[in-house]
Amino acid sequence: MTRTTTVPPDTAVLIVGAGPAGLTLACVLARAGVAVRVVDKAPEFHRESRGKGLNQRGREIFEDLDVGDAATASGIEHITLRKYRGGVAVSDHVSFGDKAPTADAPYASGLIIPQWRTEEILRDRLAGLGVEVELRSELTGFDQDEHGVTATLADGRRIRADWLVGCDGGRGSVRKLLGLSFEGATEAEECMVIGDVRADGLDPAYWHQWFDEDGGIMLCPFRGSDHWQLQAAPERDADGAVLPPSPESFQRIFDRHARVPGVRLTDVRWTSVYRINVRMADRFRVGRVLLAGDAAHVHSIAGGLGMNTGIQDAFNLGWKLAFVARGEAAEPLLDTYEEERLPVAAWTLRLTDERLGAVREGVRRAGVGTEAVVTDDTTTLRVAYPWSSLAWGGADAGHRAGGVRRGEGGPWFTLRGPAGPELRRLAGKYGPLVRVQEDPAARDLLLVRPDHHVALRVAPSDAGEVAKRLDGLRPSPSGV
Ligand SMILES: Cc1cc2nc3c(=O)[nH]c(=O)nc-3n(C[C@H](O)[C@H](O)[C@H](O)COP(=O)(O)OP(=O)(O)OC[C@H]3O[C@@H](n4cnc5c(N)ncnc54)[C@H](O)[C@@H]3O)c2cc1C
Repeated sequence: MTRTTTVPPDTAVLIVGAGPAGLTLACVLARAGVAVRVVDKAPEFHRESRGKGLNQRGREIFEDLDVGDAATASGIEHITLRKYRGGVAVSDHVSFGDKAPTADAPYASGLIIPQWRTEEILRDRLAGLGVEVELRSELTGFDQDEHGVTATLADGRRIRADWLVGCDGGRGSVRKLLGLSFEGATEAEECMVIGDVRADGLDPAYWHQWFDEDGGIMLCPFRGSDHWQLQAAPERDADGAVLPPSPESFQRIFDRHARVPGVRLTDVRWTSVYRINVRMADRFRVGRVLLAGDAAHVHSIAGGLGMNTGIQDAFNLGWKLAFVARGEAAEPLLDTYEEERLPVAAWTLRLTDERLGAVREGVRRAGVGTEAVVTDDTTTLRVAYPWSSLAWGGADAGHRAGGVRRGEGGPWFTLRGPAGPELRRLAGKYGPLVRVQEDPAARDLLLVRPDHHVALRVAPSDAGEVAKRLDGLRPSPSGV
């Protein structure tokens, strides 16, 4: 770190990258009243379907951010996978068809929703909070000192911020500029061609999945859209090299495996070749610079966790950064972000590898086995941080508390417990940092973090422990 004189910041937090991770983080911070700017190098907002699944935990976070209804209105729940072998429909599988909403987990299903729409919903929310994404703003460098970070953009502009968060994707600059490694592997051989196409004539009630010995093609519908996401084994030349996707190659692959006469794939809006990359950074924080989303970890799309893991990183980091930026918590709180999310990233890499293996095995043995892609684990409702230094006590400390907070704002801790003088005293002491919920049926005091994880469960007679822990988050009076 180089020492510089203190320059007044242009913003408290500079977020680099306006994908799902950056936008979620920006919403949490802006809602908390923290000054935030979001820069993105893209010249315009994309219209690509990319990561098309918002999982159950992602939906809870959207509910908290007050965009749950918008996402639900644009998504498909319990999508039916229609599987074909040799062009003949062999089975239907309803995703999470055996699950029903419960008080603990109100979303039984994830949502199929194109990523461009997910981002648009978050951008609209952010605009409502007074923040617009700054396009054509590519970060090319930064310097950090003990007081903040000075970022340099490609056009020479400089932005001074107290904190910088790299949400700039797997190929982003922030991780590289920090000199962090991105250990792992890239599968050179196996890949998939993907794209967004019209497929007029296909029944949009199904995610069609055609498989044969020598390849296959899947077409996934979206609500209120004529476009489908196409995923297929690529065409290769005589040497086995992958041929680039094109409207013509999409049609050839479709005709070969789907064998549905009369359906033309048209209006190809996006094409890409997807290669599996399984890598993660070994640190998520270096001083005043943090990483979230694909910038910190990338993995196979089996399980549909790419976008969701980034959203969940941002939700974990958001409240911590908000408390620190507002001077209500000391900086060490930020270390708990890496402490909690780095092991989850490692677990996600393993889980998605395992899901990919299960799908490959299912396809090899039965011709189709894509339903193996999602499991109770891929809902990420069970992701917990029992090892965390913020798991302060009680059998469920670190675990998700369950239930959803409907767009209540925040961030704040929620203290639930039986009515009594302890509860009232604590409510008065912490003001807006702690919201008290009297629950006559409760026997314990339950302190729930702003990101819905249990911090502490104690008997009312141990209310002092709640105060001790919350006081422990505070900056010391000297400001150190
Ligand atoms: C082509 C493609 C296809 C994909 N397909 C799937 C799929 O089918 N299923 C799935 O689950 N996931 C898929 N993914 C992955 C999924 O999209 C990601 O996991 C998700 O987008 C990660 O979100 P993020 O916010 O971390 O990063 P991103 O969405 O990658 O956003 C990063 C943002 O940072 C910006 N940026 C980068 N560098 C800079 C810089 N130096 N300065 C300023 N801005 C910068 C970029 O323009 C971009 O907007 C795909 C990704 C891509 C790129």
